[in-house]
Amino acid sequence: MSGGFNWADYGSEQGDLEKSTKDAKERRQSQNARKRQKRLWLPVNAEKKVIILDDDPFRIDEHSMLINGTRKGNWFTCIKKLAALAEDKQELKMFKGGCPFCSINEPYFVGFVTVLVVTPFRLERGPDKGKTIKNYRNLLPMKLETLEWFHKEKRDRKSLVGALYRFSRTKKQGQAAFGVPSFLQMVTNLDDPKLLMPAKDPNGNDITIPPVAWTKEEYSKMFEPLAHTEMAALAKEIRAGSDGSGGGGNRRNNDDDEEYGGDSGGGSDDSGGGGDDEIPF
Ligand SMILES: [Zn+2]
Repeated sequence: MSGGFNWADYGSEQGDLEKSTKDAKERRQSQNARKRQKRLWLPVNAEKKVIILDDDPFRIDEHSMLINGTRKGNWFTCIKKLAALAEDKQELKMFKGGCPFCSINEPYFVGFVTVLVVTPFRLERGPDKGKTIKNYRNLLPMKLETLEWFHKEKRDRKSLVGALYRFSRTKKQGQAAFGVPSFLQMVTNLDDPKLLMPAKDPNGNDITIPPVAWTKEEYSKMFEPLAHTEMAALAKEIRAGSDGSGGGGNRRNNDDDEEYGGDSGGGSDDSGGGGDDEIPF
């Protein structure tokens, strides 16, 4: 019957093969980027020095989900706003239907800037175990109060690009997992050989380059939201998984710690995932 409903018009991708494969590959890369986010994190009684590389935070509403007993890496961009716009915008149709995570917990507003961690770090796990890395990039995740602090710092200093801070963490509870910042100085020469960060050239070879913030495109890949259908499926799993575990809806007051406490510290691409919450990798 012509004009009838055919699921394949909705749930599969026909048409230009090259384009749809390219799109799928980009989606996969985005997912990987999301899972590999490196958020600044400190063990208790540790400190790290970092240089701020951009000062207009990339801002989203985010859900922190408890999945398989951990919140580590389980951050998801809320799609409530996108879903509302999807009614009029064809290109956003994948978000139609609202945000399935909003019925599990409240999203929080969070902004991110890129920081260069200049304190050397010794890898304790993974293929590069024993190797010391430095000058690697992290995300500094800032919720409301930290964003207010950041805004004030920026207003006082005009720009925070190149601002060197020492972050120190003294306690596990009641303190953000990235610790407490104190301003040290402005670094005016980011081309200084001492600050070069590891990178890859177009051929995949290891090189060093002056530190740069992640671009808007890189941020949007890192925080790319899942489609409504994927989120709905995951929400169902999370609900099923939290039955009887008691971990579902209970929120502590020190939500920064709860939400960022399990994050890994930075460095090479393969270092994240699976570790104890107290060990950066
Ligand atoms: Zn939401």
